Amino acid sequence: MIAEELVIACCTDLAGKVRGKAFPATQFDKRTKRGIGWTPTNVQITCFDTIAESPFGSLGDLVLIPDEKARVRVQLGGDVPTEHFALGDIRHTDGRPWEFCTRSILRDALERLDRVAGLKLFGAFEHEFQFRNGAVVIGEAYSVNGFRAERRLAETLVAAMREAGLEPDTFMKEFGAGQYEVTMGPSRGIAIADQSTILRELVRLVANASGKEVTFTPIRDPDAVGNGVHIHLSFLSGDKPATWDQNGKHELSKKAGQFVAGILKYLDSIIAITAPSVVSYLRLTPHRWSAAFNNLGFRDREASVRICPVSDLSDIAKASQFNFEFRAADATASPHLQLAAIVHAGVQGIEEDLPTPEATTEDLSLLDASALAARGYVRLPKSLPEALDRLSASPTVVGWFPARFVEIYAKHKKGEMAFLEGKNQKEICSLYERVY
Ligand code: GLU
Ligand code: MG
Repeated sequence: MIAEELVIACCTDLAGKVRGKAFPATQFDKRTKRGIGWTPTNVQITCFDTIAESPFGSLGDLVLIPDEKARVRVQLGGDVPTEHFALGDIRHTDGRPWEFCTRSILRDALERLDRVAGLKLFGAFEHEFQFRNGAVVIGEAYSVNGFRAERRLAETLVAAMREAGLEPDTFMKEFGAGQYEVTMGPSRGIAIADQSTILRELVRLVANASGKEVTFTPIRDPDAVGNGVHIHLSFLSGDKPATWDQNGKHELSKKAGQFVAGILKYLDSIIAITAPSVVSYLRLTPHRWSAAFNNLGFRDREASVRICPVSDLSDIAKASQFNFEFRAADATASPHLQLAAIVHAGVQGIEEDLPTPEATTEDLSLLDASALAARGYVRLPKSLPEALDRLSASPTVVGWFPARFVEIYAKHKKGEMAFLEGKNQKEICSLYERVY
């Protein structure tokens, strides 16, 4: 059979989905200038393929412009078609960035970080996922045998990551049933979110190529573990690491401490963006090693922000290893929007000159509301509607985003929730598991 290779221009959207349009690969260069046509109301397509209330209706036209720097071409071999896509930016037809383009929103946040603090972001997303179809095997947490069951897939994935320009790091059998974790090396700026998006697509690609299905859903069953996304972050000033200070509190540099303080101060208002589905809030509960309070943890996996370990044995200098991770995130969000919200909150902390937070070492779920408040902690929202209310109620947070962004984002999420009305928790978990 004859075939001509197509490339997909695509982007992450408000539903955390990667959507796009394909064209002949021979046109790539031309399309990096003129783009492909895109429709404003697409932004209100929910993860369940319903359309939430849209201010655009049937009107308007945009262009999606693929970016050569975010282009991926991977050949798995056999009879699997060549995988070829490029993330891009959505613009108005006169070239201005579109207000709902997640990549442009992240670019704005990174520019603010540079303007206010003279810092560039360096980091990587860490992902957990589960196989959907396959017998539930027990006794395999972290095991070599559990790894062996997916060795072929892991090795194909690592090769695909390299071909796509991602630096492979680790792959392991995580704790949960059929759960695995994959990490990658750090990159800079927009590429941090691009590479997270690319990684998720590659995992799906290699799984589907071997007849398997994976899910990145935050939680499949409230009685079992969740699938987290941990966003590792550090800073560069020029080309030098700027996160570690031997004499700083918890060894954080002054600006890194202010940045973390900003994240924690605004966390309850941005969580509707970093953990944006109904089931995200089943995962964000105590004792799951996710996040339930706006606390910093020193190497504590129950904290929203955790200072990660450094090793004296590493060939990498301590200042370059030092990073913190944001744990109140999952894969139902656009990585670009997640990172934009985190960066804005952090820069706000730098602008407000907030002190480096204390780090907790105890179980905060044992404290009552007044004891928590006395120490400046809040329980994070327990549901998506509560999280959306906090987002909309913060003029500071609303002001970080383009005009009407938060209002339309909230409408999108309401559309998503409307689809779930009348369904029980099991059905809701199962729906999210299918779409993420
Ligand atoms: N599965 C946990 C989560 O939902 C994270 C476990 C870990 O620390 O790797 O975030
Ligand atoms: Mg893990």
